[in-house]
Amino acid sequence: MPRPLLPGRGAPPGWLVRADPMIGAVRRARRYRVPMGRIGGVLIDIDGVLTVSWQPLPGAVPAFRQIRDAGVALALLTNTTSRTRASIAGALTEAGFPVHPEDIHTAPTVTASYLAAHHPGARCLLLNSGDIREDLGNVTLVEDDPDVVLVGGAGEEFDYPALNRIFGELRRGARLIAMHRNLYWRTSAGLRLDTGAFLVGLEHAARVRAEVVGKPSAAFFDTAVAGLGIAPDQALMIGDDIDADVLAAQRRGITGVLVRTGKYLPETHAAAEADPDHVLDSFADLPALLERLGS
Ligand SMILES: [Mg+2]
Repeated sequence: MPRPLLPGRGAPPGWLVRADPMIGAVRRARRYRVPMGRIGGVLIDIDGVLTVSWQPLPGAVPAFRQIRDAGVALALLTNTTSRTRASIAGALTEAGFPVHPEDIHTAPTVTASYLAAHHPGARCLLLNSGDIREDLGNVTLVEDDPDVVLVGGAGEEFDYPALNRIFGELRRGARLIAMHRNLYWRTSAGLRLDTGAFLVGLEHAARVRAEVVGKPSAAFFDTAVAGLGIAPDQALMIGDDIDADVLAAQRRGITGVLVRTGKYLPETHAAAEADPDHVLDSFADLPALLERLGS
């Protein structure tokens, strides 16, 4: 369970700091403490922002710890479909980031909520690289006669037989639901082709349109903001994908911050349909931005 937020001792009204169980006292808030009502919570993309191939980016661990210690509410938002949130929390903790599974929203966890709300009881044929069944909760997974073709993250499993099978199911009337439509992601070996590229072909061939649940869908951001108990205009979203992370968040009324790490490419930034509210060289610069926004 998250530790409770308490009124900051000696802090201006409305400022919050987090109780520190290690010393049994209220930790002194850092000088960049954020007044509630300005930025009350931070939504953080993981891959390409905190880590690449689960290795921490320079300066990310101390910046994350600084923000967490100051009591700023935070949630991690990831379209990652290769690991469960328990596994992600373990990997991040090992990399030095103090996180709990309940801090994390993954595309599969939000997809499970979406299916329960919009397609209750649907029989789902899953195509995904990685075992994420634990995060799909009560979703009914089947091998035959699906109501829904559920597409997660791309990998070796996206071969001709699998894609042709899906094409057939869509032609027979199954709905197409995608956990995201990212075109590529960054690994230590370079950019890798992702689900979005395959979706374009499936949609055109079967004459359907995928329902997309992960970032950049409104449902993903609304779920995360509601989980922090704040209004969208009190939230800040930081990510390396200008479209799926930053501009999509800004369309929901959230302050958007683009980092020049991970999948960031200058040409993608230049070609974007709008400007991020803020651009930082890396996550290491976020505490200073929070200080500026809160001043
Ligand atoms: Mg990312």
